[in-house]
Parts: sequence; C-alpha cells; structure tokens
Amino acid sequence: MSWSLKLFTVRGIPIRVHISFLLIVGWAAYIGLSAGGGSWLRGAAFMVTFVVLLFACVVLHELGHSLVAQLFGVRVQDITLWPIGGVARMAKMPERPYQEFLITAAGPATNVLLTVGLGALALVWIGPGQLLRLVTTPWLLNRFLSQMDGQSLLLLLTANNAILALFNLIPAFPMDGGRLLRSVLAAFLPYPKATRTAALVGQLFATLIGTAALLAGNIMLALVGLFVFMAAWQERQQAITQGALAGLRVRQAVQPVGPRLHPLLTLSEAAAQAATSPQPAYLVVDGGRLVGLLTRGELINAMRRAGPTARVGSHLNRDVLQLRPDDALLAAQKQLQERGAIMGIVVENGQVTGTLSLLDLARLVDMLRAHPEALPRG
Ligand code: ZN
Repeated sequence: MSWSLKLFTVRGIPIRVHISFLLIVGWAAYIGLSAGGGSWLRGAAFMVTFVVLLFACVVLHELGHSLVAQLFGVRVQDITLWPIGGVARMAKMPERPYQEFLITAAGPATNVLLTVGLGALALVWIGPGQLLRLVTTPWLLNRFLSQMDGQSLLLLLTANNAILALFNLIPAFPMDGGRLLRSVLAAFLPYPKATRTAALVGQLFATLIGTAALLAGNIMLALVGLFVFMAAWQERQQAITQGALAGLRVRQAVQPVGPRLHPLLTLSEAAAQAATSPQPAYLVVDGGRLVGLLTRGELINAMRRAGPTARVGSHLNRDVLQLRPDDALLAAQKQLQERGAIMGIVVENGQVTGTLSLLDLARLVDMLRAHPEALPRG
C-alpha cells in the first residue's frame, strides 16, 4: 500500500496526494479557527481553501516540469503531493544539459506566469491605487488579509506564487535552482564534475542561509538551511561515486567468497567463522547449492532474539541479488541499493565466483578518488 490517493490524470500522469497531506489541511483549518476573528468557521474555510489552491499551484509547477519532460521523451511516472511540496517521478533525466535546463526551468516559470496572471487579476479587482497602498503599508495589508475574503485570497495566492518561484530558484539541491546551475555548468564541464560544483555552491548557500537565520533567531529557516545542506552533500557524494565508478565492470571489483555456512550450523558456530572474515554477509550453501545469504547484522540480531543455539537456516535471506562479471558497477550499485541488499553474488556459467557488497564499492570509491586511473575503464 502506497498511502496515496489518485486524484486525476493529466496526459497519462496520475496526480496523487499522500495521506499525510491531510495533516496540512487539518493544520490550516486549525490556524483558520483561531484567526477567524468574528467567525471561526469562516476562518477555517478560508485557510483550507487557501492551502488547497496553493497546492493546486504546486501541482501546476510539477506539471510544468513533467509536460516539458514528456516533450523530450522522458516518461513521467506520477506526481505526488506531500505536506512539504510536490514530487514528479521521472524515469530518467535526459542526457543533454539544455534539456535538463528546460525541464527544470519550466517549474519556476509556471509560478512566474501564475504570479503575473493572478497579479493582473488583483490589479483589476482590487484597483491599482488600493493595491499600491496595500503593498507599501504593512498594517493596512495585515488588516486587508484578515478580512479573509476573495480579494485577500487572491493577494495571498499571488504573493505565495512569487515566493515559490524565488524559493525554487535558490541555487542549491534539491531546489530547481541547483539543477539549473548544474545544467549550465554541464555545458562546460563533465557531468559528475558539474554536479559536484553545483552541490558545493548549494552547500555554501545553505550555510549562508542557515547562519543568517540563526543570527536572526529564525529556527524554521535555519532548519531549512540544514536540510538543504544535507541534500546538497548527498547529491555531491552521489556525483563523486558516479564519477569514480563510471565505466567499470563488476569483474574489476569482485571479492573472494568468504566462509560458506551450512543451514544446520548454529548461530554461534557461524559467528566463530564470521569473526575471521571481512565480508559483510555469508553464503549459506547446502550440498553445493546456494540457499541464501546471512548478513553480519542479521546474524547479530538473530543471536540476540533467538539465542546462539538457533540454526542458520531459519534466519537466512533467500532472495539473493545475482550479478554478472560484465555488469556495469554503477548498475550493480543501484540494484543493491534499490533492493536494500548489502551484498550480492557474482555468478559466471552457473557458478558463484565471488561477491560484491556496498562496503566493497565504498572502499573502491575511496581508492579511486585518490587515483582515478587505478583501474582501466572501458
Ligand atoms: Zn520544481
């Protein structure tokens, strides 16, 4: 169960809303209840309408990305609304930097268009003189917004679309601005280097935002800065790994098979063998036939729960990822991560010839960062 409800479909893209989104609607109703002044029902209705319309703008932002992506033949799986915003899941990013640039730019551009459109509407409905007084006089604006009518709703939506456009253009991952910067850099630099540089700029920005927010006592904004810093750090690590492993094959990193455990061994006997082996997981073999895998963590957990006399056979993992020596290392790493497996086996002509774990890959990346030509690429 995915905990999200499908609302409708646009050009084959299902628009979903995650169940936790209801929290935001509930929160908006609560804020409205206490802010409604004369009528709390009106306050709640106003805030809920505002939040729903604002998230409709977020859907339009994601649709902006998605429809341009479809133009370049990128398949869009779905768009899901979360309390923190919308996420469009795409099968892959296009190869060419200018395509990534246009797909990314389409999101904030949608909010700019919405700002202009809604702003023009406000200009007509509220009147230019009144609008000018409102945006230049804070107390008047406050009073105007607290009326909680159609005009104040329109003004709030206009302002929030402008904020969405600006916020998304901050040049840091995972914001659109970070991707725009990367695609511009990628026109001059190799892709992984462009990502590393863009991520570094993002971390710098996040540090600036975070520090300024802390000095101003704005804890929420400081947390946003921290979140952006971590996201940029992760993106940079991923780019470093991709740069290091690109063009390498599984056969260049395969590790010798460690101890082979029999399913009838006790966990304590297995632990004794594990003690002298560097592998993070062990093959469980019965009569020459592979029956599963037992990771070091699972062995420790099983001993805690079931005691040292329990058998290996009742705690093993039967779903083992099989890799081939000619598989690309990057693809192997992706498969391991997607399965949540820490180690896979390498099979050649029906025989297990070795293993490959995420730990092995991390060690290899460390080595290749010091000397990228340590292994031949092809
Ligand atoms: Zn976006």
